[in-house]
Amino acid sequence: MTAKRIMSNPTDCIFCKIGSGQIPSACVWTSKEAIAFLDVNPLAEGHTLLIPKQHFADLRDIPADLLGRMLAQAPKLVDAIVRATGASGLNFLQNTGASAGQAVFHVHFHFIPRQANDGLGFRWNAGSYEPGRADALQAAIKAWL
Ligand code: 5GP
Ligand code: ZN
Repeated sequence: MTAKRIMSNPTDCIFCKIGSGQIPSACVWTSKEAIAFLDVNPLAEGHTLLIPKQHFADLRDIPADLLGRMLAQAPKLVDAIVRATGASGLNFLQNTGASAGQAVFHVHFHFIPRQANDGLGFRWNAGSYEPGRADALQAAIKAWL
C-alpha cells in the first residue's frame, strides 16, 4: 500500500512567499530559481534552508536538472555556514513526508551546524535483516527505479 501524500497549495505556501519576496527572510544566497535563508526557528545558530523558488511538494516532485543546479551550491553553503558559526560539523538534512518530520510541503534542504555534545541528533537505532529480507527489498526497490 502507498501512503497518502500531502500536496500543499502553492497559492498558500509560506516558502513560495519567501521565494517570491512577498514574505521577508534572512537570505544568505539566491539565484533566479533558488534561495537559501535562515530558518526562523533554528535547531542551532546558522540553521539554513535551501529551497527552489517554484513550488514542489517534496523531493519526489522536483525536476532532477533543477535539483542538480540547486544542490551545486551546497558545498559552498556548507563551507560558509561552518566558517560563520564556528561549527565543527553540519548535518545536511531533507525531510520527505510528515512521518519523517516534514512540516512545510514545499521541498527544502536543511543545513544544521553542529558542535560536539550540542545535544542535537537522531535516535539511530540500527537494526539487522532476517535471512532473505535484504534480497527482497533490494529487488523491490530496483523494480521501482
Ligand atoms: P520541515 O520540518 O518541513 O523539514 O522544516 C520546515 C522548517 O521551516 C522548520 O525548521 C521551520 O522552523 C521553518 N520555517 C517555517 N516557517 C518559516 C518561515 O516563515 N520563515 C523561515 N525562515 N523558516 C520557516
Ligand atoms: Zn511553495
